[in-house]
Amino acid sequence: MSEDTLFSKIIRREIPADIVYEDELCLAFRDITPQAPTHILVIPKQPIPKLADAQPEDKMILGHLLFTVSEIARQENLDNGYRVVINTGEEGGQTVFHLHLHLLGGRALGWPPG
Ligand code: AMP
Repeated sequence: MSEDTLFSKIIRREIPADIVYEDELCLAFRDITPQAPTHILVIPKQPIPKLADAQPEDKMILGHLLFTVSEIARQENLDNGYRVVINTGEEGGQTVFHLHLHLLGGRALGWPPG
């Protein structure tokens, strides 16, 4: 059983968020501390704490999340490109342990990340 995080509270509408997309499997909302002009988080409604915890039965939702990011990027007119990031675990910089994909765009992004 996954622990309840603030993202589960956003799914249940117990915490407000600027939601940009929702379907039966996932929810997308704007990051509260944006690191780029467009910074959106896409999360599964059925929480997985982190990518390292993914199981074979999660393959479908993982593909769905990635495809949904591409659809949201089109919706946000990120025609010049964008970055998709999954921070995983402590050294990966993860702070909220409910798997999420960061969609970052609207400016040129540096590489490598810190
Ligand atoms: P990570 O560090 O990869 O776990 O990313 C967590 C992200 O969640 C950070 O970019 C935070 O700014 C973002 N965040 C934290 N609380 C909220 C919130 N209430 N609404 C939207 N984004 C949030």
